[in-house]
Amino acid sequence: MINIKNRVKQILFDADDTLWENNIYYLEANRDFFALITENGFEKEEIVKDFDNLEMKVIRKRGYGSINYVYILEELFKKYNNHSKSKLDYGRLQEIKKRFLEHPLQKPLIFKDVVKTLNYLRGKYNLFILTKGDQEEQSGKIVHSELDKLVDDYFVVPEKNDREYRRILEKFSWKAHETCMVGNSPKSDINPALRSGMYAIHIPYRDTWKVDIEPIISHNGYFTILKSFSELITVL
Ligand SMILES: [Mg+2]
Repeated sequence: MINIKNRVKQILFDADDTLWENNIYYLEANRDFFALITENGFEKEEIVKDFDNLEMKVIRKRGYGSINYVYILEELFKKYNNHSKSKLDYGRLQEIKKRFLEHPLQKPLIFKDVVKTLNYLRGKYNLFILTKGDQEEQSGKIVHSELDKLVDDYFVVPEKNDREYRRILEKFSWKAHETCMVGNSPKSDINPALRSGMYAIHIPYRDTWKVDIEPIISHNGYFTILKSFSELITVL
């Protein structure tokens, strides 16, 4: 385990599924949606493949977020309805959408010990939230959960890739080896941060979005993995 106490000056935190619950609402809606379509004689594998393809296209074109997710469900519903012998139940789709949008997407459920841990760290380091997604939706979640009061600033970006990490380092004249990224996603939080020369702390989440999963790259001692958010105080 790395010990980077006093080595880093600024810490960046991912938000979805690191500070608060997010992906389970999507997984639940997926499950209900796939059930609705398969009950009408379609193969689940085919639907999942279709869903994944459309999701990638929508992300590229329109970005992340709950509104775009609902759009995907509507488009797929239309497609399968056109190919179905009997009409699909539109009321069920409306229920799935309603249930999904009723989840605390706007004012998220913050994970245990997050506030306490941020309070502990804020006197020692400069803290920032770095989240990808829809500008308005992500900012709203940060502000409504009042986590903006515990960090120095927050950034919402369309994609968290190498270029984005380097851009942030450059913009604030931060040295990579004095900067640490904390998050649940190997693809968006850990690997691009490590490739940019930063420290990275992985806090895996059981329901991480499959798009965000990939093997962790080699890291030369700049990486550690923790079981929970509150364990941050053992390495920072
Ligand atoms: Mg995340």
